[in-house]
Amino acid sequence: MSLPPLPSQVAIVGGGPAGLIAAETLARAGVGVTVYDRMPSVGRKFLMAGRGGLNLTHSEEFGRFVARYAEAEPVLSPLIGAFRPEDLRSWCEGLGQETFVGSSGRVFPKAFKASPLLRAWLARLEGLGVRFALRHTWQGWDDAGALVFTVPGGETARATPGATILALGGASWPRLGSDGSWTGILQDKGVTLAPFRPANMGFTLPWSEVMRSRFEGEPLKRIALTFEGMTVKGEAIVTADGLEGGAVYALSSRLRNAIERQGGAALLLDLRPDLSLDALTKRLSAPRRGQSASTFLRKAAGLSPLGTALLRESTPQLPAQPDALARLIKSVPLTLTGTKSLERAISTAGGIPFDEMDEHLMLRRLPGVFAAGEMLDWEAPTGGYLLQAAFATGVAAARGALAALRIPDAALTLNPRSATPHP
Ligand SMILES: Cc1cc2nc3c(=O)[nH]c(=O)nc-3n(C[C@H](O)[C@H](O)[C@H](O)COP(=O)(O)OP(=O)(O)OC[C@H]3O[C@@H](n4cnc5c(N)ncnc54)[C@H](O)[C@@H]3O)c2cc1C
Repeated sequence: MSLPPLPSQVAIVGGGPAGLIAAETLARAGVGVTVYDRMPSVGRKFLMAGRGGLNLTHSEEFGRFVARYAEAEPVLSPLIGAFRPEDLRSWCEGLGQETFVGSSGRVFPKAFKASPLLRAWLARLEGLGVRFALRHTWQGWDDAGALVFTVPGGETARATPGATILALGGASWPRLGSDGSWTGILQDKGVTLAPFRPANMGFTLPWSEVMRSRFEGEPLKRIALTFEGMTVKGEAIVTADGLEGGAVYALSSRLRNAIERQGGAALLLDLRPDLSLDALTKRLSAPRRGQSASTFLRKAAGLSPLGTALLRESTPQLPAQPDALARLIKSVPLTLTGTKSLERAISTAGGIPFDEMDEHLMLRRLPGVFAAGEMLDWEAPTGGYLLQAAFATGVAAARGALAALRIPDAALTLNPRSATPHP
């Protein structure tokens, strides 16, 4: 059975941050919008991001900020320039959620979670007349060009909007709604996609049984990791079969590419990045006075049992010479053998390449169909860059839809500063 269509000028498929900000931009311009989502509620991954404090964006200088998108920088830079980190902050504050800059320059709402922000946002969207069609799973288009959705009970719903914005997300954490099942639909329409790959994820490493059984779940704090000349300070966590955590994620695209190229990646772990090699050597030159190796390393070098186990994992016979021991502590070799699965990654690389779209994010092969958010082929480290790009591309796609529908861009009142394009 087919449900009667919902009349809307624009259909937005996917109610994550990219789809919802597109809905807001369009509704402010007076456009009738329906947001379709397969889940019983929208913004589930956004809420999950809130569990880690909701790192909305980053406060660093614009040039440094956009450089984080690497190959996608030339395309994303003007889009983020039109909805900048400060615009995202004032949007958040406009919803009653004050923001602050953390010590690392990352920006968070003071509430340190997403739920109050999402609640206020959904109330605003409803006030603007945005309609929500939940439990609607998009299946593609029928022969007449209508969007087709399956709904519970085996029924089908259709919509024939004037424009469509796809904001279906990537394929990580599929239980939150984004499972990447849209790829087949677009490929059938002739869109060439970049294969999905995990981004900001953990890696596998064949730990010994001792490491696995004693240290699974233990954090390595105030460490530094080095790969291909890039050093990142931060934290990592030992998992049953590898390593994950902030410092690992920061290097993850380079590590993943190396594993794809050569089947493994040699990562160097500095257990005492705050101490120079000389200072550490001096400390390790103190007399041992019959202490066990682990007691000595704890007292002289401040190593935890996990730190000592990692030294032994790489070099079962620890060097006796203080300088050699210091060198090992400052560069423990770890050989990563693989990436953790896409399902458990923070984000997805791959998706719709920018050359499949025009500058308004309209798909060249599908006139009137725009795409935004993580389904596009860009990647970035954690630090607020993921949400910033999801928001900025959502705004850009909505403005593209307005232009296609020849509707004046009153949506620029979303943030008056955005009316002037930034360089
Ligand atoms: C654990 C975790 C923590 C994170 N923390 C941060 C952080 O602190 N800072 C940051 O910048 N980023 C963070 N991210 C990443 C960020 O949440 C995502 O980049 C962002 O949500 C992407 O937005 P989106 O709108 O493109 O897609 P999504 O948020 O994935 O939304 C896509 C929507 O489309 C719907 N959908 C998918 N397929 C269909 C279909 N066939 N039919 C109908 N609907 C469909 C889904 O149900 C979903 O609601 C985190 C991610 C995870 C997993």
